[in-house]
Amino acid sequence: MSRFLGVDLGSTTAKAVVVDETGAIAGTSTVQMGAVSRTGMTRAVTEALAAAGLEEADLAGTVSTGYGRKLVPGADRTFTEITCHARGTAAMCPGVRLVIDIGGQDSKAIAVDAEGLVEDFAMNDRCAGGTGRFYDVLARALEVDLGELGELALRGGQDLEVSTMCATFAETEVVSLLAQGLPTADIAASVHRAVAGRTLALVAQVGRRAPVVMTGGVARNPAAVRFLADALRCEVTVPEQPQITGAYGAALLAMEAAGRGPRVPAEPADAPLRPVPHGDAGHSCADCDGTVVRLGAAIPVRGRLSRR
Ligand code: ADP
Repeated sequence: MSRFLGVDLGSTTAKAVVVDETGAIAGTSTVQMGAVSRTGMTRAVTEALAAAGLEEADLAGTVSTGYGRKLVPGADRTFTEITCHARGTAAMCPGVRLVIDIGGQDSKAIAVDAEGLVEDFAMNDRCAGGTGRFYDVLARALEVDLGELGELALRGGQDLEVSTMCATFAETEVVSLLAQGLPTADIAASVHRAVAGRTLALVAQVGRRAPVVMTGGVARNPAAVRFLADALRCEVTVPEQPQITGAYGAALLAMEAAGRGPRVPAEPADAPLRPVPHGDAGHSCADCDGTVVRLGAAIPVRGRLSRR
């Protein structure tokens, strides 16, 4: 039986997924990196192949995606994260119509059609506010492990005013709230609530729809999911392994390119994102210049992928 590899080289983690020719997962790996690195990517591939009991020569096709997708040697094709996250999530959670992916340095809202194809998307990749990095900063300021941050936030009650969504200033604001003697759980909850509000602004650009699935590393944070569900006022589902949906989608695209599995039409390989002006809400945080972004600010990039 043929096997296919998907690699998602993200900004903070490298993910690799091996599937068989039915699309079933045979091996996965997620490797934490300091920054995008070939070493991290190689380790993820080696570990996923080992988990599947394979060697590189056994692979019948490879597709790469993610921020560092061009750095993956041996990839037959590259696709954008938008295409791969939509494909992987639609396969893991059939019937999904809205994918919210929050990774280390970006956040995306992807509207998908009944076939799991991208209809529209909005993406914030210019400002760390509302991304995994923002939560990393919060955890550090509150002196808790990232894995404990969500549980802490879920214990919070009081809604405190959080004025900044800029990662550069968030730490200062959290320290100031701590200095006022406010409970850490309330601070954590309030920041999560604020981030959910920002994600709502991203969702508004593609239109709310359900069922909603949350993916990316931040979907491992139960409070991020809960507060997003509260903000959207609907159920938010998280796949069993939310961080690997992009790599899984890439592996499925490699499988389909070889004519295996159920054939689903794909968006063009590595279609360019089409930026549109975003001056409608006075947003001024492009390229993270340190300007404070107020909640509800516009999101920098929005686009549409055409179908093949
Ligand atoms: P990328 O693809 O950009 O590297 P990921 O989708 O891997 O990003 O997400 C990375 C982010 O996920 C980190 O910045 C971190 O905030 C969050 N994260 C990772 N693991 C956990 C965890 N166990 N609990 C909560 N958040 C997590």
